[in-house]
Parts: sequence; C-alpha cells; structure tokens
Amino acid sequence: MRVLVVNAGSSSLKSQLIETDGKMSLMKCLAEKVGTPDAYMNVSFAPDFHKTTYNVGGMSVQECLAKLLEVLVDDPESPISSLEQIDGVGNRIVAGGEYFSKAALIDDAAREDLAKCEELAPLHNPPADACIDMMRELMPEVPQVAVFDTAFHTTMPPKAYMYPLPMRYYDDYRIRRYGAHGTSHRYAAQQAANLLGRPLRDLGLITCHLGNGGSITAVNHGKSIDTTMGFTPLEGLMMGTRSGSIDPAILTYIMRREGISFDEMDRILNRESGVLGVSGLSADMRDVLAAADEGDEHAELAIDMYVYRIQKAIGGFYAAMTRTDAVVMTAGIGENSAELRERIFDGLAHMGMILDRERNHVIGQIGVNRIISIDDSPIKICVVTTDEEMRIARETDNLVSQRG
Ligand code: AMP
Repeated sequence: MRVLVVNAGSSSLKSQLIETDGKMSLMKCLAEKVGTPDAYMNVSFAPDFHKTTYNVGGMSVQECLAKLLEVLVDDPESPISSLEQIDGVGNRIVAGGEYFSKAALIDDAAREDLAKCEELAPLHNPPADACIDMMRELMPEVPQVAVFDTAFHTTMPPKAYMYPLPMRYYDDYRIRRYGAHGTSHRYAAQQAANLLGRPLRDLGLITCHLGNGGSITAVNHGKSIDTTMGFTPLEGLMMGTRSGSIDPAILTYIMRREGISFDEMDRILNRESGVLGVSGLSADMRDVLAAADEGDEHAELAIDMYVYRIQKAIGGFYAAMTRTDAVVMTAGIGENSAELRERIFDGLAHMGMILDRERNHVIGQIGVNRIISIDDSPIKICVVTTDEEMRIARETDNLVSQRG
C-alpha cells in the first residue's frame, strides 16, 4: 500500500510517501522555517534521493503541503502522476485529548472531535487539521487517518494522569496528563519485546525517547501506565530547549520580577531553556558534548543535569511498576550517544541495570536494534531505532486495510 505520511508542525512540514509492503520510502520532504520569508522545502525521490529545494517563503504549512502535492503529481521522478494513486494518508496529530484512544479514520464525526482537541495543542493541531481539510477536498476518495501522539497513553490510571489541583480544572478544562511521543513508546516497547523474544503482554518496560524532545514511559504488560510529559510536552525531562519540570512558583516569581508577559514566559520555558539554556551554547547534544570535552563548565553542568533527571525518572518508574524487565533507549540521543547511555546507566547498576561497556560502544551496529546490557543483568538495556513516519504509515495501512 502507498501511504502518504503528513507530519505538520507549528513551523515545519515533514512528509514521506511510503510503500508499506516493502517498508520503503519513495519520497521524502522536509520544509522548515515555515511561515517566515526564509522558509524552504526539500523534496527528494527514491532511489537516489537527490534533493530539490523549493522556496516556500511566506507560505503556511497547508500551502507548503499543496505545493508538495503538485510536485508529487508533476515531477518526472515521482512514482505517481495522480493523487488518486495514493492509497491512504497518515496524519500525525499531537493531541487527541480524551477523544482518541487509538488511530482513527477521519470521517465527519472524527473531524468534529479533532476540532475539539485544537486548544490542547494550539501550535500543532490547527495546521494539521487544515492540511486534513485540504486533502479531503483535493482527494476525496483517498482515506485519511489520524495517528495521535497521545493515544498510547490513554491507558494511564487516574492516579497517574490527574494533577493535584482543584477538581474543577479537570471538570471544566480537562486539565490532566496526556503525554506525548506515544507512537514512539509503543513501537520501542514492541521492538524490545521482539529483541527479548517474549510477548509484550508479559513484560514491564521503561521506554526512553531521548531526542530533541524527551520523555520516558512506564509500559506495563504493553500498556502505558505513566509518562513524564504532561498536559503539554513541556513537563518532565530536561530537553533541548524545554525546561521540563520546574517549581511552578518560579514562573510567577520571574514574571513579577521582570514584568514579562505570559507569552514571553511560555517562550522562555519552551524555546530558551533546557540544554540550550543551561549550556548557553546549543540545544544540539553533539555540540554540548564536544564543548564539555573542551572543558566548558556550563556544557558539563547541562549534561550532568540532563543525565540526573533521566536517572530519577527511570528510578521513579521502576518504583511505579510491579516488574521491570528492560529499559529501552530510542530517538536521536538514545540511539546514537554511547557516552550519554554510559553516564545514565553508570548510576543505575544498583537497580540491576548493568551496561556492557563494549556492547554499548560497538561501532557498525548503528541502526540495528540490540541489547547492550551484560548477559546476566537482571534488567536488560535495549537500543531501538525509531522511524516515526514508517510507524505512522503502518498504522494507516492497518486501518485502511480493515476498512476493506
Ligand atoms: P531527534 O529529535 O530524535 O532527531 O534527536 C535529536 C537530538 O539527537 C539532537 O540533540 C542531537 O544532537 C542528538 N544526537 C544525534 N546524534 C547524536 C550523537 N551521535 N551523539 C549525541 N547526540 C546525538
């Protein structure tokens, strides 16, 4: 099945055309800085993936997608010449609220529920919804599917998802933990079960998605029972530019002291904090590791804090579960940084998570799922590669196939 995956962000558009039978990508697209005059869009086709860059300055995310659909139909390298040759569209949606506990085919009723979720992710959901509306009009025969970042976490019990606030905030505004990175945690858990050669339903896993954003999930018998991200993806771990959890009183203190607005505070917490804020250098972990190697104290502190917060989250979820069989590392940092994995697990050996330093550092196995703990480590440590677009394509294929 040929699935177009559309991942519309607040200022970016990622897309791939994926042949799900052979798990092959046929087209890749990345548009960045969308909405600014400098916006650009790179599109490339299999087998060589030579990029062509289009100027999409000033366009909205939805207009970039319209441009991409034009390229898909017109470019001689494209495997399709009409939009009807697409079998299904998989749309990544950040927030599904309490309306969606799994991926959904988008009919009129689902579209109405999507509209109700917009206020939960005001930067991300509205552009994604606009893209869906445009595609439903342009290619009415092609089924549209929504795949949610939050869906995997709808199994959390109330003690994990409720906040200790007056009940009216839940009753009136549905303020609760929704979590994020759900497709990644679900996939990482399943891959780990395959690696361990045991059914997912028998396992207790702690999955760590450590990328630019980061979250950790306790997956008990295949179900998310708690996760570090909260009402929004700002809670939990220290991230590239996000603070993660801090004392909420700091916000009101800074706002009073500096007389800054809600929007400014929001920007500071989401875009200027985390690894970038503490290191003062970069949100990119590679830059910060390199600077720490050169003796930069702030870079070293940022890494120390980053690692410590991950260790505390893993320890917390170890306590939350009835059993822990493995800790699973995935996403940019989790998959690629042997150094950070070593620093994280050096502090966790007493809990029975014992890293094999050689396996951790093996070169030539990047991109291959593997176990990196010692053979008799009571709790295994796994590294799993994530491919968000492929996962969305597979979920879309499932739903479209079931539709008949
Ligand atoms: P993601 O959001 O999953 O694309 O992950 C992005 C993050 O992964 C960035 O902070 C990168 O610096 C980090 N990353 C990618 N490769 C490496 C590496 N080899 N060592 C350390 N960090 C890496």
